[in-house]
Amino acid sequence: MRRTVRLFLAILAGCWIGAVAVPASGEPLNVVTSVIPVAYIVEELGGERVEVHALVPPGASPHTFEPVPSDLRTLAGARVFVAIGGGFDGWSDRLLGAAPKGIEAMHLIEAPNLNPVEGEDDHHGEEKAAKEEDHHGEEKAAKKEEDHHGEEKVAKKEEDHHGEEKAAKKEEDHHGEEKVAAKEEDHHGEEEFNPHFWLDPIRVRDVLVPVLVQGLMAADPAGKDHYEKRRKDFHQRLTALDQEIRTELGKAKTRKYIAFHAAWPYFAERYGLEKVAVVQEFGGEEPTPREVATLVRDARAAGVGAILVEPQLNPRVAQTIAAEFGAGTVVVDPVGDPGDPARDSYEDLMRFNARAFGQALQGKRN
Ligand SMILES: [Zn+2]
Repeated sequence: MRRTVRLFLAILAGCWIGAVAVPASGEPLNVVTSVIPVAYIVEELGGERVEVHALVPPGASPHTFEPVPSDLRTLAGARVFVAIGGGFDGWSDRLLGAAPKGIEAMHLIEAPNLNPVEGEDDHHGEEKAAKEEDHHGEEKAAKKEEDHHGEEKVAKKEEDHHGEEKAAKKEEDHHGEEKVAAKEEDHHGEEEFNPHFWLDPIRVRDVLVPVLVQGLMAADPAGKDHYEKRRKDFHQRLTALDQEIRTELGKAKTRKYIAFHAAWPYFAERYGLEKVAVVQEFGGEEPTPREVATLVRDARAAGVGAILVEPQLNPRVAQTIAAEFGAGTVVVDPVGDPGDPARDSYEDLMRFNARAFGQALQGKRN
């Protein structure tokens, strides 16, 4: 079942990996990223010289993602691996440790001049510790069900634990299966920095693109001119995109927004938006009744007309909260989805978000 799902996703992904015309030098450069938006950016820079795979599949939240052995196999095929770093995709360090040597690993959090925003204050402190204690077995499956979309995920979960993983353990033996299985430990909330810096097109243009191009050139020196040409072109398009977003958000009557999780500080800083509150302090973590009450009060006081929700996280709480102060919800997407033409490239994803923010700031629903 899981294998089928994965295969299907791989085929879907094939659509946007796109025209993988093999460069004259031979095979395309195999690049694996932890998350989809970084894969989008690499795809822009590499074009037909690269083949890109993101490990966190469409529809999954990177915050709750847990790798399975097939992810190790995907990673093992990479020449270059691009992670966010800073604890966001810490699971990828364990995968990398188990993968064959020789994969060029990049952690974007280390990019010069990134100026990452600090992680959110962890005022869930004790609660989280308490949760962690009884974080085993059924409860986790139950939580999974709430966070995502029902049985499919739970079923997957079961397969992960009892099926594929054990089978693979026998097959691959010492290949760090233990490490893959040790995933529960650093689940979330250990992010030193807010990891969502890809949601600022200017940071992408000036900070991420240069290091990614460097990485591609180092792994594929014969493609130097190719990457440089694509870098220039993407640079210009990102400048235009920034203007487009400014125009879109310029129409808004307020600058205040309520996010579903803390994904937007870089975007907000760039475009002069003001966060009133977030529904989930960490992606995948439900608010307490007390936090909900505070949120409703703050939203009323600020006159916020809509709460932003996200395709990767269950919007139910946000809908309930929004209804309490007579507002709606608007879908924004920090991650993207290669299966949706409206969100299947970096530029389209950011246009989608600019429009959605524009609507939310007008108090409209989408
Ligand atoms: Zn996030």
